[in-house]
Amino acid sequence: MTKILITEFINQSSLENLNKKFDVKYDEKLYENEKQLITMIKDYEGLIVRNKTQVNLDILKNALKLKFIGRLGVGLDNIDTEYCKNKKIHVQPATGMNADSVAEYVVSSSMSLIKKIPMFHNGTIKGEWPRTTIKSIEINQKNLGIIGFGIIGKKVAEYSSKNGLKILAYDPYVKEINDKEIDAKLSSLKEIYEKSDIISIHLPLTDETKNMVNEFSFSQMKNKPIIINTSRGGIINESDLIEAYHKNIISGFALDVFENEPIESKFYHKIKPGMNCILTPHISGVTTESNVRVSDFIVKKITDFFN
Ligand code: NAD
Repeated sequence: MTKILITEFINQSSLENLNKKFDVKYDEKLYENEKQLITMIKDYEGLIVRNKTQVNLDILKNALKLKFIGRLGVGLDNIDTEYCKNKKIHVQPATGMNADSVAEYVVSSSMSLIKKIPMFHNGTIKGEWPRTTIKSIEINQKNLGIIGFGIIGKKVAEYSSKNGLKILAYDPYVKEINDKEIDAKLSSLKEIYEKSDIISIHLPLTDETKNMVNEFSFSQMKNKPIIINTSRGGIINESDLIEAYHKNIISGFALDVFENEPIESKFYHKIKPGMNCILTPHISGVTTESNVRVSDFIVKKITDFFN
């Protein structure tokens, strides 16, 4: 029987289906123990991970039987895909399966931050009743700049245009937008920085995108935008972001992803109550529904692959 190793959490009923067809070892904490993983991996033909398992050279060099890696999510920056390609190990992300969850997070956080909900909440629970001291605005007819116009970027555009936002999209790999499907205008990065009231980032983490949103980017922003990052930490320079907030260049931010995860104290100590921001522990793509879709998708793909 083909042996499959799962190193992070998977939906229970999807796991039961997998157990019917394969010899499965499931340990949702295994990603924490790289030494054990390096020893174990040599016996397995299939590996299923999320984003915490670092599928690096040390692991892959020992993965002598490995033919398939299933990624329960999107973003392959934790997997040495170049090595896998050379060794003909198939790497399968759950493309699109958590896009709705991420898009809902972007819509809800952009609404909350434009409305200054974190600031109103903080003032109210301190008994300040900040009814006139904090000003909020409407979202209708504001510009949303989307950087990275792939599956999630397009989904965010679709959801947000229904709320009255005008969409600008930057993606040098997208040559045209079918405007019957999505109401968005392809724009330069400069135009996005200059015109946007909200900027949402939906890029993969690559050598090209690392540190892409930095001090120079913030210096071009004219409308004090809200910044939202659900893609990968490291794409935004976190120190430059905090500085831009304190200099009133941006008016708020929502971060679901961080350069170091779990978030380090040297970063979260800079976040004070009363700031217009939302920080979450890499959960925008993880909901009850998306967990089922992502897990079922990878179980189907691995089953088809080994059949
Ligand atoms: P996707 O591959 O469909 O879209 C990424 C887009 O980025 C592509 O259209 C690509 O052309 C574009 N791109 C690449 N390099 C670029 C560059 N230098 N400048 C501008 N555009 C560039 O991926 P997706 O499904 O939309 O997901 C986007 C990212 O979101 C993933 O890479 C993943 O890291 C992240 N993600 C996070 C969560 C979460 O829970 N926080 C969940 C899902 C995905």
